[in-house]
Amino acid sequence: MIDLIIIGAGPAGLSACLYASRAGLDVMMLDAGAPGGKLNVSAEIENWPGQKKKTGPELAYEMYEHALSFGGKQEYGEVTKIIDHNDFKEVITNEKSYQAKAVLIATGTKERKMGIPLEEELTGHGVSYCAVCDGPFFKGEEVAVIGGGNSALEEAIYLTKFVNCVHLIVRRDVFRADKIIQEHVLGNDKIKIHFLKKPHHIIAKDNKVDKLAIEDSNTGELSELLVKAVFPFIGLDPITEFVKDLDITDEHGYIITDETMQTKVSGIYAAGDVRKKVLRQVVTATNDGAIAGQQIAHYLENQN
Ligand code: NDP
Repeated sequence: MIDLIIIGAGPAGLSACLYASRAGLDVMMLDAGAPGGKLNVSAEIENWPGQKKKTGPELAYEMYEHALSFGGKQEYGEVTKIIDHNDFKEVITNEKSYQAKAVLIATGTKERKMGIPLEEELTGHGVSYCAVCDGPFFKGEEVAVIGGGNSALEEAIYLTKFVNCVHLIVRRDVFRADKIIQEHVLGNDKIKIHFLKKPHHIIAKDNKVDKLAIEDSNTGELSELLVKAVFPFIGLDPITEFVKDLDITDEHGYIITDETMQTKVSGIYAAGDVRKKVLRQVVTATNDGAIAGQQIAHYLENQN
């Protein structure tokens, strides 16, 4: 029986691991991928207090090393279900089953898909949800970025390091992103903004992206862009399918907690982007993780 299983080793999970193991708990983190979560695919972080600029993977590595320095452990595994047995919780992965006195869900969010023809088939062949991972493959080319939020605009700026032109496709005539990021985009002459346009379908050549057909949001008229890659950044959905049976989410799938990060199920907590909250940032994820780690230590003390 482990004291605490943390599902997800992004900033929230890593911060919870640090606080809980430092408080003396026996902690295990489970993640299906590399520790660091979305930091691993973030080119640059410029709002982590105390560091004007830092690459995402660098910060991820530092957080990971720090998180494990008080004895926490980490294993790989994709969680498919959590069963509440009241005095203990069972965490089931596709390979194993674990028992813990408390569980923290810190699984974050996943990228929303455009749902247009050839998106799925060409993923990895020109369609990419990670500019940091795939941007360098398109050196000197023209590419499309879809979306008008912070992610789309930040990734569009990042891509201009490699490509000749980024076509930024925005479905309304305004951005959703913060003003400061908008200003950077408007001042970048490698970014061509297409307001009031939506992605419609992709055209392939030799099983790779060759063109993107876009649709005018008002008239429905179609036009084509010659691009070698399409990077959709159109929002995020919480990763909470595996907690469906616990009935702890809101109508959008985000987990509802109190201010101690506990859900309505005693001993089951949530932290970070997966939680219903107003601001999803690295700094707010680590904040949630710290509160959860410390509160879970109190919870277990009271149980004993
Ligand atoms: P957002 O939900 O903020 O933005 C999504 C964008 O995609 C919007 O412009 C939206 O248009 C558009 N969109 C949605 N669906 C479609 C579609 N089917 N076709 C075309 N366009 C579509 O998502 P982000 O991923 O940008 O950000 C998620 C969260 O993370 C936000 O809270 C954001 O602030 C935060 N974040 C913060 C960063 C920072 O502070 N440095 C960096 C990155 C993310 P519409 O506006 O019309 O709905």
